[in-house]
Amino acid sequence: MRLVIMGPPGAGKGTQATVVATTLGVPHVSTGDLFRANVGEGTPLGLEAKRYMDAGEYVPDSVTNGMVRDRITQPDCHPGFLLDGYPRTLEQVNELDMMLAAASQSIDRVVELTVDTDEVVERLLKRAQEQGRADDTADVIRRRLEVYAEQTAPLTAVYAGRDLLVRVDGMGEVTEVTRRILSALAD
Ligand code: AMP
Repeated sequence: MRLVIMGPPGAGKGTQATVVATTLGVPHVSTGDLFRANVGEGTPLGLEAKRYMDAGEYVPDSVTNGMVRDRITQPDCHPGFLLDGYPRTLEQVNELDMMLAAASQSIDRVVELTVDTDEVVERLLKRAQEQGRADDTADVIRRRLEVYAEQTAPLTAVYAGRDLLVRVDGMGEVTEVTRRILSALAD
């Protein structure tokens, strides 16, 4: 199964993607995690990405697309994967289509986690205290939500048009949301 999970910052994508990927037995490919790993290791890609991440902006496609291509063409992704945080722009949708078409593959399903915006901001501020992420300050959170609304939210219409989109209520207990996602994917 080749899956994408979408939703605004703080929707719980990362938490859900980790559990869902383990349950389905496919790798969890998170662009945010890949960027953070590169930042932590101080690689050139990490240094480039950090400038954008710290400001709540998207890392340029010239950096992001290549990183995703390298990851999803690894052997462990051959049977399937769960993409978390990619695609985030229409250009990335096209790029992903091309990457997959080159291997005669395509996306099977896109899960959109829907949440209440006030709840999202609260979750992100809590995560800022717990994990100390540089991009979880109030100003940067606001910018990340704006960028999501402008650039990423429109992608759901694209995937709905292809009949791939399933909307899942992301509010409530983590285990309950996981159950909803797995049940939506089983339909
Ligand atoms: P996330 O952990 O998914 O919230 O991602 C953290 C940050 O990494 C984002 O705010 C962006 O700066 C960057 N990022 C992650 N995925 C992408 C992507 N697909 N395109 C551009 N930037 C991304």
